[in-house]
Amino acid sequence: MTENERKLNEMSTQLHNDYLDTTAGMADRVAKEVAKTRTQVIDLIGEYANKNDTISRARVNTLLRDLEQIEREIRDVAESALTGVIEESVDTAQSDVSEVFHKTLGLSLDFVLNAKVAESVILPGMSGERPTPKNLATYLAQRTGPDGLTLSSRVWQLAGDQRAEMGNVLRRGIIRGDTTSKMVREIKGVYDTESWKARRLAITESNTAYRTAIGYTAEKSKFVSALRLIPGFHHSEKCVSVAGQDRHGLGVGIFLPTDADIYNIHPNCTAYTQYILSEEVR
Ligand SMILES: [Zn+2]
Repeated sequence: MTENERKLNEMSTQLHNDYLDTTAGMADRVAKEVAKTRTQVIDLIGEYANKNDTISRARVNTLLRDLEQIEREIRDVAESALTGVIEESVDTAQSDVSEVFHKTLGLSLDFVLNAKVAESVILPGMSGERPTPKNLATYLAQRTGPDGLTLSSRVWQLAGDQRAEMGNVLRRGIIRGDTTSKMVREIKGVYDTESWKARRLAITESNTAYRTAIGYTAEKSKFVSALRLIPGFHHSEKCVSVAGQDRHGLGVGIFLPTDADIYNIHPNCTAYTQYILSEEVR
């Protein structure tokens, strides 16, 4: 590592650590949006309650159908909160990479960030658009990931699972003749156990967006020749094994910015990349 690379990477590691601190808040935000829909379930239970505070078995199917509306609501709020955290992550990544190059080497990356996307391996569907946080977030939300899913299909899964769980709890409670307050408690339990899924999705999507935005800037910048992959702090097996590859004969853990798979190795991944400078600025 040259002196320039050392300075650059020290600062980018610091900024990445700061970013990771903010992702906890992002995950909270997404989870909170989903949690807000709980009051609608409670209202629904209230609407169906008899005088003796139970729900008539004859109404179980109608109640379960009404849960579909809440599922739609969960989808909407989760998708919009997630798109928000993706946009914020792109914004942070772009300002981090600009700051790092400017402060340590006096170099400006404006020529990448202000130019329209053209012939990018990382963002193939964004040709002709500017790589603004909003455009990039929209693109990342719409593209199909390595799991074969788009953001909205991941969100549909989340909302569908949660509705199925709530349906089970309510069906059981109604058939047993439970009080509505017992059912409300159990619904709260479902929200508590399911909220980790919303958090995990938020962490996965935001970190992927951060890495992708850095990767795109590296792909298009004449100052960067390669990236070093640093595994996340969980040291997941998958991450550590990818980081152990010498894919291009450039050294262990050294990738080209166009190796888009390194931006999304596994769910919950907190890996990041450091810069290998091109000859002219080393
Ligand atoms: Zn990882």
